[in-house]
Amino acid sequence: MLWPWKKSELQPENDVERRALGAYLGLAVGDALGATVEFMMPNEIQARHGVHNTLCGGGWLRLKPGQVTDDTAMALVLGEAILAHNGQVIPHVVAEAFDQWMRSKPVDIGDTVRRGIVQFRLHQTTEMPLDDWGGGNGACMRTLPIALITYGREDADMVAASRIQAHITHHNHHSDAGTECINRMVQLALAGKDIPEIVGGPVQTLIQTYPDFRFRRKRPLSNPSGYIVDTLRTVFEGFFGTDHFEDCLVNVVNRGGDADTTGAIAGMIAGAYYGPEGIPSRWLKRLDPTIHQACRSQALSLIRMAVAHLAE
Ligand code: MG
Ligand code: MG
Repeated sequence: MLWPWKKSELQPENDVERRALGAYLGLAVGDALGATVEFMMPNEIQARHGVHNTLCGGGWLRLKPGQVTDDTAMALVLGEAILAHNGQVIPHVVAEAFDQWMRSKPVDIGDTVRRGIVQFRLHQTTEMPLDDWGGGNGACMRTLPIALITYGREDADMVAASRIQAHITHHNHHSDAGTECINRMVQLALAGKDIPEIVGGPVQTLIQTYPDFRFRRKRPLSNPSGYIVDTLRTVFEGFFGTDHFEDCLVNVVNRGGDADTTGAIAGMIAGAYYGPEGIPSRWLKRLDPTIHQACRSQALSLIRMAVAHLAE
């Protein structure tokens, strides 16, 4: 069988493209790995799987091995909407794309996401009102296309694009700050920067502004909720506390809770940082082939479009 990623146009041609590909594959693999143990407690995971480290499917969504959930699906939908409009992040276009995705009856969808899309459907609103209590991780989980398409641009451009896509469903200061921090982390990793610059830059700035995001390397948080602060503390502990893609993802998802989303976000950062060759081949082989190809195509298209616009 000829694997789709052997096609020459779907091969990265430089280090940034290679890392962009790693970010997308990391997102999908982390989602698929974590979904098996989403909403489980660490001791339940231990009893059922020992250490959970295979793309075996199952979980509360009864997934096939290698199947992904809304985290990857929404990122791909967002990326398509951006690519179809020459790299622009247009509120109505993105909201319409999210609405079309919801009509396709996805395998799962978060309550806050559903509420935002219903508001768009009913009233054509593309920005939810500011909600101090609504700090879910749903805007952050799908943010990867924003990190890629604004790569190399002014930080303010990234922030503006990030908030357009986020506010369709999630309008909250912690969600905004956390999502923008993840975009900056991915962009630093794409540029080949090392851990001290990643932790000393965006992560430190986030914690200075919102000390709730402070994380520990010892006695890690377990059973992280879908609250953006819990989610990102888990991602930070996992990413900064390990030296390999696999260790990072296993660390994060075995804490249970919102494991597909902690896996997806850790996967995009670790994938950009370690590159696609850092992702275990047994996970890539199990990943849904259609999703694998979509991730490969979208990663390369977005980063090439971003770099082409920079040169204009
Ligand atoms: Mg999910
Ligand atoms: Mg989730």
